[in-house]
Amino acid sequence: MTETLESLKPSLLWKHFAHILKIPHCSGSERALGDYIVSVAKGLNLSYKRDKVGNVVVMKPASPGREHSSKIVLQGHLDMVCEKNSDVAHDFSKDPIQAEIKGEWVQAKGTTLGSDNGIGVASALAVMEDKSLVHGPMEFLFTIDEEVGLKGAYKLAKNFLSGTQLFNLDSEELGTFTIGCSGGGDSEIALALERKKRRLKDLYRLKVFGFRGGHSGIDINQGRGNAIRLLARLLYISQEKIKFELVRVEGGNKRNAIPREAWAAVYLERTMARKMHSLLKNQFAEIQNEYKAVEQGAQFSFEKIEGSEDDPLTAASQGGLIRFLLSLPHGVIAMHPEIAGLVETSTNLAIIRCEKNEAQIITSSRSSVGSALEAVRKSIQALAELAGARIVHALAYPGWEPNLQSELLKKLTEVYTRVFAKDPLVKAIHAGLECGIIGEKYPSMDMISFGPTIEHPHSPEERVHIGSVENFWRFLTASLQELV
Ligand SMILES: [Zn+2]
Repeated sequence: MTETLESLKPSLLWKHFAHILKIPHCSGSERALGDYIVSVAKGLNLSYKRDKVGNVVVMKPASPGREHSSKIVLQGHLDMVCEKNSDVAHDFSKDPIQAEIKGEWVQAKGTTLGSDNGIGVASALAVMEDKSLVHGPMEFLFTIDEEVGLKGAYKLAKNFLSGTQLFNLDSEELGTFTIGCSGGGDSEIALALERKKRRLKDLYRLKVFGFRGGHSGIDINQGRGNAIRLLARLLYISQEKIKFELVRVEGGNKRNAIPREAWAAVYLERTMARKMHSLLKNQFAEIQNEYKAVEQGAQFSFEKIEGSEDDPLTAASQGGLIRFLLSLPHGVIAMHPEIAGLVETSTNLAIIRCEKNEAQIITSSRSSVGSALEAVRKSIQALAELAGARIVHALAYPGWEPNLQSELLKKLTEVYTRVFAKDPLVKAIHAGLECGIIGEKYPSMDMISFGPTIEHPHSPEERVHIGSVENFWRFLTASLQELV
């Protein structure tokens, strides 16, 4: 297997990647891979630093005559997402990743491959080792725990790097330059609930499910349904016509995912059940019609359930909860004024849980502009205040505001156009990247992110396109040579 990978071009890069596959490096367990980086640096007589959390930087002097060029940082993350198919016996803590060549791609057998970000790390090691390359002074930064909250980038000391331009090698589409990302911050809301003795007899569960969900940043502009909000809409409309007693609303399970399911428990007079069901059916048919282009799997159910539940909410508390859920914003708030198709600011109504005395609601908001992020969170706060709820804003993480005037962008676009005889696609993403945090610590760092083509990262279908790795390497080395 390893021999086969090593026969690929560029051989230095694949040699290091084949070695990385043998070293377990799931998020939280990157120590051994950090050791490997250090051993390569020592073997090449390059100096390095390793900080307390495990981030490593290696310094390589300029090639002769290029001592006065600006210093470039190549950056990648050491950790990988460890996922496997349930029928695969693989222990990520000790087994090597079994990679194989399948046509134009390299893929692992039933596990994630770790080409995210193993190819980026291997290419940095190859640049470190390759004495034939022409470049200015360089730093190679390897961060830990990117996949679990960008922890290594957060812990980076402000004097760890001295470079002024940074290539982040963690993008997944050859031919695309990423030049911006969103920051984000959650808001946690607690709405007091008041309960009364129940009067109505039977317990029913209303559930909406089968929505597509998706990433709360990347997929927020896809027009998908938010199960919590749609459930709130059904309850709001129903309570205008039918008397029921709400017990709880539950929905969503991840802060960074659009909720796919939500349900409510209600007490109802049995004689009203049929009327409620037909009302819901009509209302849900309207929802299905509104979302017919994107949510073909959306369904609802309304069933009598056995078992015990809490007492119902008082009429005021029930009305307050439903109104609050229906008024909380969800979706795109603003598009970027200069970059077509890029969401600048958004918010996701992510989770609701009901305890006996309190509903807990979590929203996650994003923006590439710090003040716009705070403005969305203030509007959520204002609504919470109207509803009489308490709200806490979690610490925000910074975005990376796209700079279309960047010198680095200009130069790399020239190089790309010359090497491939076509223009790169320049984009920003509506999700967090390490560059956002690095940029906050190094405000004058000019940054860009690119990489080879990787499909299905974070899943056992992950695969990297062999030809794109070769082209990525051509472009990377040409850029280093020409940035003076
Ligand atoms: Zn990555």
